Amino acid sequence: MTSVALRLAVAPPTESCDSGLAAPTWDFDALTTYGPGASVDDAVPAETTNATTRPGQLPQAYRDADEADLYRRIEVAKETLGDRVVVLGHYYQRDEIVAHADFVGDSFQLANAALTRPDAEAIVFCGVHFMAETADILAREDQQVILPNLAAGCSMADMADEDSVEEAWLDLAEAYGFDPEGSDDPADYPGGKLPVVPVTYMNSSAALKAFCGRHGGIVCTSSNARTVLEWAFERGERVLFFPDQHLGRNTAKAMGVPLEQMPMWNPRKPLGGNDEATLQAATVILWHGFCSVHRRFTTAQIDKARAEYPGVQVVVHPECPMPVVDAADAAGSTELIRQFVADAEPGSVIAIGTEVNMVNRLAAQHPDKTIFCLDPVICPCSTMYRIHPGYLAWVLEGLVAGETHNRIEVDDDVARHARTALERMLAAAPKPLTGSAQGAPAATAATGSAR
Ligand code: SF4
Repeated sequence: MTSVALRLAVAPPTESCDSGLAAPTWDFDALTTYGPGASVDDAVPAETTNATTRPGQLPQAYRDADEADLYRRIEVAKETLGDRVVVLGHYYQRDEIVAHADFVGDSFQLANAALTRPDAEAIVFCGVHFMAETADILAREDQQVILPNLAAGCSMADMADEDSVEEAWLDLAEAYGFDPEGSDDPADYPGGKLPVVPVTYMNSSAALKAFCGRHGGIVCTSSNARTVLEWAFERGERVLFFPDQHLGRNTAKAMGVPLEQMPMWNPRKPLGGNDEATLQAATVILWHGFCSVHRRFTTAQIDKARAEYPGVQVVVHPECPMPVVDAADAAGSTELIRQFVADAEPGSVIAIGTEVNMVNRLAAQHPDKTIFCLDPVICPCSTMYRIHPGYLAWVLEGLVAGETHNRIEVDDDVARHARTALERMLAAAPKPLTGSAQGAPAATAATGSAR
């Protein structure tokens, strides 16, 4: 059964956002777009630090294999490789991929899960490019991290490329009068605070994590964004937050930062589209980036759910626009959403604002509760969708044959600085626990709001 068919079996029949989802699998595989689904209309950058623009490279034999054959071949290859390989599956992956995952979780949970398998020579990351980079940064030097399809990028991560962020940094240095390559020690600045602390969301390239490492900045996840911002405000006058404006705005607003102190930085405009006075008053400068999956959710959908299901509880991801987060009963990371559903009383009705594969899986796992996606239109993450079982079979059988396909390797210098920013995050927030409930290690302490 294909993932679309499975979703239709679990959720009420509904339309999809992209006819490509119903097209034969390989019709989209050679395209240089993000693929069918929520990001299909996002502009692919001419030059990108990840590999989004590369079309799939899957040998024909794997394209010709049917689903049952691929399932069997994946299982045989995993059995043959044993502890030499660990397969990681992001929550937003298709069910046909999650079925083979040793660990299921969000990006940071999965990178940490890999650390619990030191015997694994290869880490096969069924997610998107920045996740595989993060796993490579955290993995042992001799471990190979593999992204089954190099076309699985992330349109949000691509919205903040290294050159644009470097240019913005120069503009901000001029506006606030600091040396762009100066000290990253707050003690070296008036008032003991850095003029700007760069904060990047985990959903960004390794190059941007390294940028933060070099400039006194830090990485955050959707679980710990508030803790990280508190850390940043202790060390700096203001924050440059990229690439997701919504996570930055929702988190800072919950901390009491006024909206007028959160200007947007549009990298295509001079000074990001701001004047000097706006920048002087800024507390959080928000990069003009967004997730096309979470941007689909609206307050009208919440109103409709409340009208149709009195007593419904609405939980959404903080990558959703601010009015949606404000109208929901709870907002938090993917892990918080999973826990919210698990903790709900039998008979509960829960409307969820996050990726549809995850929502439908939660619905299947909790048949005693009514669980549905706020968006009535099937619209998965386009880039996650590009990991097909054919690719997983190909990379695993390659390992059996002694060949490595699609290895992701982060440059040593980039990795060193990126690790600095990641380590600051770990020092600022409770360390994630490890374990393997349905494969998923326990989450970092969720700081999402629940109202
Ligand atoms: S759901 Fe959004 S942020 Fe996550 S990989 Fe897809 S496009 Fe990127």
